[in-house]
Amino acid sequence: FAKQSGRCCYKFYQDSMNSKAAARLQLEQDLRQALKSNEIVPFYQPQVCARSGRIVGVEALVRWLPLKGGIIPPDEFIPIAEETGLINELGRLVLEQGCYQAKQWLDSGHSVRMAINVSAHQFRQHDFTQTVAQVLEQSQLPPSLLELELTESVIMSDAEENIARLVELKSLGVSLAVDDFGTGYSSLSYLKRFPIDILKIDRSFMCDVNSALDDVAIVEAILALAESLKLGVIAEGIEYTSQIAILKSSNELLLQGYLFSRPVAAEYIGPLLSQNFTHLMAEL
Ligand code: C2E
Ligand code: MG
Ligand code: MG
Ligand code: MG
Repeated sequence: FAKQSGRCCYKFYQDSMNSKAAARLQLEQDLRQALKSNEIVPFYQPQVCARSGRIVGVEALVRWLPLKGGIIPPDEFIPIAEETGLINELGRLVLEQGCYQAKQWLDSGHSVRMAINVSAHQFRQHDFTQTVAQVLEQSQLPPSLLELELTESVIMSDAEENIARLVELKSLGVSLAVDDFGTGYSSLSYLKRFPIDILKIDRSFMCDVNSALDDVAIVEAILALAESLKLGVIAEGIEYTSQIAILKSSNELLLQGYLFSRPVAAEYIGPLLSQNFTHLMAEL
């Protein structure tokens, strides 16, 4: 009997493995098709300067808009894109569209820095710097208006080789930001050695005036670190004005989160660019 039920379980396991693999394969094919039919588009989320209350940057956050309707968030297809190498095509598409969009805003009188997420796979391509240089040239976007976001784990995966790559990218005139800062690598020495400009504090650290003192202390420590290393700071995941109150910094401080806007299609950003958000920052 034991043997029989064993076989039964095994068969069940095998079936579910097969259907998982089939679903994955289907997703890969759909994604390949979606890239061809313009279903993959960047949305943009504002980054507001704490001092001026103005939008000075946006982060491009990719979305899959299937023809049949709905929105698929990146967490559901970026991992597959990474595994299959489709991330290179996807990444280039977001980089191109982002740069052309920022140039369009610039031409209409709004200087908006475009932040682009760079995946591990993309960063490791030997011609990645060349790709970025090419897109900057084609779009005519001033390099100072492009920011590349890398996570700590990508930066630290092969530290020595990466320094060279980062220096190469910096020489184009773009800025480099560490995304999800605080969630990855524990050694901070890379901040001194690497040509990094900005720390993006991960939203899991975002607490408010009512939080435990320990939580507030972590945010304060990151701000102090950034100040002494002369790095800019972007606080992610700001949903309430009470979260802004703990963010005191003498360096450039940008705020990003649902409080100001969710990530939205480009056409919704335009009207926000002439708005001032200082009324939300009374607590700063
Ligand atoms: P990320 O780069 O850390 O992006 C920030 C995420 O936080 C975004 O999720 C954004 O929508 C979300 N967020 C922003 N403000 C708030 C807030 O106030 N509250 C909460 N709860 N969430 C907020 P999203 O758009 O789902 O993107 C998830 C991740 O997917 C990104 O994390 C990034 O790692 C990846 N991703 C997105 N677009 C691209 C892309 O074009 N290329 C690559 N390689 N990765 C991308
Ligand atoms: Mg990011
Ligand atoms: Mg992040
Ligand atoms: Mg993230």
